[in-house]
Amino acid sequence: MTEIADNLARIRARIAEAARRSGRAATAITLVAVSKTKPAAAVIAALEAGQLVFGENRVQEAAAKFPPLRAANPALRLHLIGGLQTNKAREAVRIADVIESLDRPRLADALAAAMEKESRRPTLLIEVNTGDEPQKSGIPRAEADTFVAACRDRFGAQLRGLMCVPPAGQDPAPHFAWLAACARAHGLAELSMGMSADFETAIAHGATLVRVGSAIFGAR
Ligand SMILES: *Cc1c(COP(=O)(O)O)cnc(C)c1O
Repeated sequence: MTEIADNLARIRARIAEAARRSGRAATAITLVAVSKTKPAAAVIAALEAGQLVFGENRVQEAAAKFPPLRAANPALRLHLIGGLQTNKAREAVRIADVIESLDRPRLADALAAAMEKESRRPTLLIEVNTGDEPQKSGIPRAEADTFVAACRDRFGAQLRGLMCVPPAGQDPAPHFAWLAACARAHGLAELSMGMSADFETAIAHGATLVRVGSAIFGAR
């Protein structure tokens, strides 16, 4: 588990260096440590190394793993980053601080109803399927402007930004640039983009949240 602390230190140094190269403050970039499929012990090792922000892609796994960790570490912040089924909206609202995968009107309805019932308002990001890949979650590019504007009206400042996962095997840079331009056009401050393989490129394009899993916790 000291490996996790070493990996975190390396990733933090690389984030700082990427920020410096882009003339950005390293403090403007939040590392989301993606702990999906990894045991609570791995999260605890990261917590002990000072990491407080975590990402999970499945609500059930996150709900099983995180509530006890949060009880012991009140500063812990949980981001849900995976495609979200409407029937999981209530559990998602109950456990998440940030939901990064708002991607369709039905889910917006389900989240709004869940937030009403739970009296809890996680920060929201809209996921855009920038590569328009049929198997992937995210609002299609062509519908992004309309959906972002509608969510902005509905959720106000609770809607904070955009997220994307570019197609595997393609240069991610044009996807990051497109997402950054879309966020700018809508006055949204947060950009969640970049994973283990491409977070430095994402930082060069303005990422404020980078989601790094395997480079911290090892291969899945
Ligand atoms: C798994 C996952 C990540 C982390 O991927 P790594 O390549 O392991 O860093 C980031 N974002 C999303 C949406 C994921 O599902």
